[in-house]
Amino acid sequence: MNDGATRGHLIAGDEVPAASGATFESLDPATAGPIATLARGGAADVDRAVSAARTAQPGWRDVDVYERGRILQRLADLIESNADELTALEARDAGKLLPEAARDVDRAVRTWTYYAGWPTKITGTTNPADPGVFSYTLREPLGVVGAITPWNFPLVIASWKLAPALACGNAVVHKPAEEAPLSALRLAELALEAGVPAGVWNVVTGDAEAGAALAAHDDVDKVSFTGSTEVGREIQRAAAGNLKRLTLELGGKSANIVLEDADVDAALEGAMRATFRNQGQVCTAGARLVVHARHVDELADRLAERVGSIRLGRPDDPGAQMGPLVSARQRERVLALYESARCEGARTATGGGAAVVEGAPNGFFVEPTVFVDTTNAMRINREEIFGPAVAVIRVEDADEAVRVANDTRYGLAAAVWTRDASRAHKIARSLNAGTVWINNYGGLDVYSAYGGRGYSGYGYEQGPQTIEEYTTLKTVRQTL
Ligand code: NAD
Repeated sequence: MNDGATRGHLIAGDEVPAASGATFESLDPATAGPIATLARGGAADVDRAVSAARTAQPGWRDVDVYERGRILQRLADLIESNADELTALEARDAGKLLPEAARDVDRAVRTWTYYAGWPTKITGTTNPADPGVFSYTLREPLGVVGAITPWNFPLVIASWKLAPALACGNAVVHKPAEEAPLSALRLAELALEAGVPAGVWNVVTGDAEAGAALAAHDDVDKVSFTGSTEVGREIQRAAAGNLKRLTLELGGKSANIVLEDADVDAALEGAMRATFRNQGQVCTAGARLVVHARHVDELADRLAERVGSIRLGRPDDPGAQMGPLVSARQRERVLALYESARCEGARTATGGGAAVVEGAPNGFFVEPTVFVDTTNAMRINREEIFGPAVAVIRVEDADEAVRVANDTRYGLAAAVWTRDASRAHKIARSLNAGTVWINNYGGLDVYSAYGGRGYSGYGYEQGPQTIEEYTTLKTVRQTL
C-alpha cells in the first residue's frame, strides 16, 4: 500500500536521511495504510538544519527587498500553478475532502501573495532627540526561526508562519506534524524553485523528538508553534534556555452564542460550519453551542437532523461530506470524550460512536455528533474535542450566555447571533476571545490579526502585526 515514496529532510537545499537512519511512515487516514516513508529527525538533524539556516540568513537578509518580494510572489504563483498536485497530496495525507484541501491551497496562495508585498514596506522610525543627536530605529530580522506545525491545516499554518518570517529576512527550520508532513516538503521544494536560496528554508521531519530539539536549540532565535496547549507549555519551558521568543497558537473551546432575537435558520447553518468542517479538527471550532431557551429545542432538533444525515466517505469520494479523522490516536481521543459526555449525563441527539465506511473499513472515521442537555461543567465542554461534535448548552438570557462563554481557560474565538447590531458589538467586547464573529461562524483572512488568549496562547498570525513577531528593533544614535 505504501506508494514507495521515501523522503528525507530538506537541509541546505539537499534531501538527506536522518543522521540516525531512523524513519517513520505517514499513513492515509482513510485506509490506515502507509503513503510514504520519511526521515525521523532527532537533535543531530535539527542541529544541522539550524546551522544551515544560520549560515544562509545574512545573505537572505541582504537580498534587495524588491527581489525578496518577487521571490515570495513567485512562490505564491508556483503554489497556484501546482494547486491540483498540492490539493491531492494534502487530501490524502491529512484525510481532507478534496474541496476543503483545494480551499487550503487557495488560502496558502493568498498568504504568500500578501506577505510578498511586505519586504518593501518594513520600516523603522526617526526619533525625537536632542538637537545634537541623530537617532533612528531600525527594524531587523530576528535571525533563525523554528516553525512547529500541526496536521489539521498543514499547508495553511506553515504558510502563516513561513511567509512573514521570510518576508522579514529570517531563515527558517520547519518541523511539520508527523501525521501529515508531505505538503511541507513539497512547499519547500517549490520555494527553492521560486528562488529562495538553499539553506534559508529547511525542513526536518519527525515527531516530538525533533520538535523538542528545535524548541530547546540554543541557536534558534524564535519558535512559532501551533498545536496543543500541553505541548505549548513544554515549548515555553524548553525555550527558557536561550530566552528565545515565542508565538504560541494553541487550542480552543469556543462558544457559539444564539440569542432569542437570532435568525435561527442562519444560526443553524453557522453551527454546521462551526464544528463539522474539516471533521471538526479546527482550533476555532464552536464546540459549545450556547442557545437561548426560546430556541434551544428547535435548534438542537434541526441540527441533529442535519448532522445525522452527513455522509462520511473517503476524501476522494465526490459524494462525501466528511472524511476520516487524521489518526487512530485522534479517534481514540474523540471517542473517549464522547463517552465522558454520556457518563456525565449528556443526551446524544445523534452520532456518538465510531463509524465504518464502505470501501474504507480501516479508516479513522467517527460519527458526527450532537450532545444536548449539557452543562458547561462537563468534560465535553471543558476539554478541546478536535472532532466533529457539538454540545448544546441552554441559557436563559444574554448575560448568562456571556458568562458561560467566558467560563473557560481558553480564549481563541466566539460568535454571537442576534438581529440587534449594537447589542452584538457590545457582546463582542465582553467576550474573552481573540476573534469574535457576529451572525457568522468561521472565516479568517490574512489581512487581520489572529491569535489567542489564556490557554489558547499568545502572539499573532496574519495581518500586519506579524511583522513585529518576526523582527527586532535596533536604535542607532549619532552625536552630531
Ligand atoms: P500537538 O501539540 O500534539 O503537535 C503539534 C506539533 O508539535 C507537531 O509537529 C508535533 O510533532 C510537535 N510536538 C509534539 N510534542 C512536542 C514537544 N514536546 N516539543 C516540541 N514539539 C512537539 O498538536 P496536534 O495534535 O498536532 O494538533 C492539534 C492541536 O493543535 C489542537 O490542540 C489544536 O487546537 C491546535 N491548533 C491550534 C491552532 C491555532 O491557531 N490556535 C490551529 C490548529 C491547531
